[in-house]
Amino acid sequence: MAELRFSALKEVFNREPVVTHAPDKNVSKYFGIDVFNLHKMEHYLSMDAFKVVKRAIEEGKSLTRREADQVAIGLKAWALERGATHFTHWFHPLTDGTAEKHDGFIEFGDNGHLVENFSGEVLVQSEPDASSFPSGGIRNTFEARGYTAWDVSSPVFIVGTTLCIPTIFVSYTGEALDYKAPLLKSLSALDKAAVDICQYFDKDVTKVIATLGVEQEYFLVDEALYYARPDLVLAERTLMGHQSSKDQQLADHYFGSIPERVMCFIKDFECEAHKLGIPVKTRHNEVAPNQFECAPMFEEVNLAVDHNQLLMDIMKRVARKHKFRVLFHEKPFAGINGSGKHNNWSMATNTGVNLLSPGKNPKTNLQFLTFLVNVIKAVNDSNELIRASVMNESNSWRLGGHEAPPAIISVFLGTYLSNTLNEIARKVTDKKMTPAQKTELKLGIGKIPEILLDNTDRNRTSPFAFTGNRFEFRAVGSSANCSAAMITLNSAVASQLSKFKKEVDNLIRKGHNKDEAIFQVLKKTILDSEKVLFEGDNYSPEWHAEAAKRGLSNIASVPESISRYLTANSREVLVGSGIFTDKELESRVEVEYEKFTKKVQIESRVLADLAINHIVPTGIKYMSSLLENLRGLKEAFPPKDYEKLGESSREAIMVISEHINGIKKLVFDMVEERKKANVIENAFDKAVAYERNVKPYLDDIRYHIDKLELIVDDEIWPLPKYRELLFTR
Ligand code: ADP
Ligand code: MG
Repeated sequence: MAELRFSALKEVFNREPVVTHAPDKNVSKYFGIDVFNLHKMEHYLSMDAFKVVKRAIEEGKSLTRREADQVAIGLKAWALERGATHFTHWFHPLTDGTAEKHDGFIEFGDNGHLVENFSGEVLVQSEPDASSFPSGGIRNTFEARGYTAWDVSSPVFIVGTTLCIPTIFVSYTGEALDYKAPLLKSLSALDKAAVDICQYFDKDVTKVIATLGVEQEYFLVDEALYYARPDLVLAERTLMGHQSSKDQQLADHYFGSIPERVMCFIKDFECEAHKLGIPVKTRHNEVAPNQFECAPMFEEVNLAVDHNQLLMDIMKRVARKHKFRVLFHEKPFAGINGSGKHNNWSMATNTGVNLLSPGKNPKTNLQFLTFLVNVIKAVNDSNELIRASVMNESNSWRLGGHEAPPAIISVFLGTYLSNTLNEIARKVTDKKMTPAQKTELKLGIGKIPEILLDNTDRNRTSPFAFTGNRFEFRAVGSSANCSAAMITLNSAVASQLSKFKKEVDNLIRKGHNKDEAIFQVLKKTILDSEKVLFEGDNYSPEWHAEAAKRGLSNIASVPESISRYLTANSREVLVGSGIFTDKELESRVEVEYEKFTKKVQIESRVLADLAINHIVPTGIKYMSSLLENLRGLKEAFPPKDYEKLGESSREAIMVISEHINGIKKLVFDMVEERKKANVIENAFDKAVAYERNVKPYLDDIRYHIDKLELIVDDEIWPLPKYRELLFTR
């Protein structure tokens, strides 16, 4: 068995960097070459069709059949010119991956000849069988058929020879079965609520978009070593492996020079991404060995999410060419940093203003503070919902670890803004303000520096940190589709902004002037959300105690966290604003429970197989060689010397057999627990049983295996070790 490990290592030692040549041009020359963007539409579509699509994009509308037909003509011409042979509706089912079913352009023409055809009908709508996608019960009560419908706001693109049409995915009866449909709804709710608030400050604002820049962390493992680790192949994380003597202690990987083989891979996938219009810009080594990060420039949220999903696909595909495997799992290796996907989020107006960026004068700063405070209040009120949107099995290994945001969702602002908010809360009175008071306040907020970005003031431990002109939501897992987090955040902020507006309008109606009304509601809103603000070290035990004292929610259990999608507040935010129906929300929660259960189940099975089929036999084999050694000693030495000489072998045999027995017993018990959990009908109860009664065995069994790894002869250890997975490349 150990042969596989050693031949894999040999393969890695002999690897050469795979040099692929990016087009011999500046990126701007080929950026977006495979995307049917506005620029190409202008060229390939009739004037009428172009105008129609442009308006549909701007207004978030869909096209009529006739309009779609016109668009299809131009799109087909472009696609055939680029060598496309197939098309697909590309969508985001609730699996964290993307889905596609390819259809050829070919059809029989009137006289039996084969022709390339592509109509408006297939562009705007398709009917894939929905029955094998997670639906959380919706498919049981309704027909299995699902519809995909073109999302005009995200451009069509070509991968290889396939034309990909971004679509939403809904059931026959209209329930969303994907992430995109509710994401679009949440963005339009936010647009409306934010425009209403902007109207207090600037009548020219008619549209607000949310913006997202995704920092994507990942690990690379050599392909040969990956295949020698069935746990990586099947569970996407190592379920065993003793810590390497050296890993990230010296912090010598972070921002270090990127190894050549890795660099070739990065350049290659960046080039592919650029051709698809994904503006990847930043690359660097991360903290853990073999961990890296890439980040594109921010874009409108829906587009940024599509691009992140596509980017992960590209990275997986390109990695194979370079004999790597990309690990997006949140915690592929125990004991060292895991991977996150920091969601940098803000809002921008059609007038070019970033609503979370301080302005140059009191008026723009009052607008900035209004949005800032409302986001904080939204995170305060929807605290549990926000955690629910990022909690899942794989991220649970990371959240609460020493390098990752804890399961307590708090907001970091930095000293300057904390003080500013404090001042507003203190200085604004409930009575009518005197002109002097107003001037003082306005002068105060007028001084907020335009660039708040101060590196000394950055808190890397906060799950939700203000970073100068945006919030960085850091609790999102590296493998996740960001939609879940974005749907929640957009909806929570939209709902809060609407409440804010109601309160301000109320005061105005009672005779306060606008600014004063805004100040007063701001004051109240700040006071109502103080418990969520935290400037200290989120990793410290003191914070846990402090959060408990403040009554801030802290839930480490995954099913418990997920269940918070269904609280009264969550329903108000998500159902009240029309993002989901009750049924959609409940079914989504069901899907999450099931996903959790299945993932633990898979890990438990894989670990049991490896423990019994790989590890126990290896331990026994080593014991046999020790026994052989003892027999030899006994023959060669007189009893007095033998006693002494055989001591270490005898001791090792005892220890090994203890671990082997430990493994066997624990595996047996774990399987029994699984059997009990498997007969539970209710999805929540089942997930809880898996979490409480099965999941702990993963660590318990691993403990014995990792101890054995240290004792057993390296020559016969079957699985690549941490030091090999992390340091060989
Ligand atoms: P960090 O220093 O946090 O690692 P990076 O440069 O890796 O920062 O990533 C920052 C991300 O934030 C980029 O994707 C960037 O485009 C994005 N960003 C900057 N401004 C905004 C904004 N207004 N809205 C959303 N994202 C933004
Ligand atoms: Mg970064």
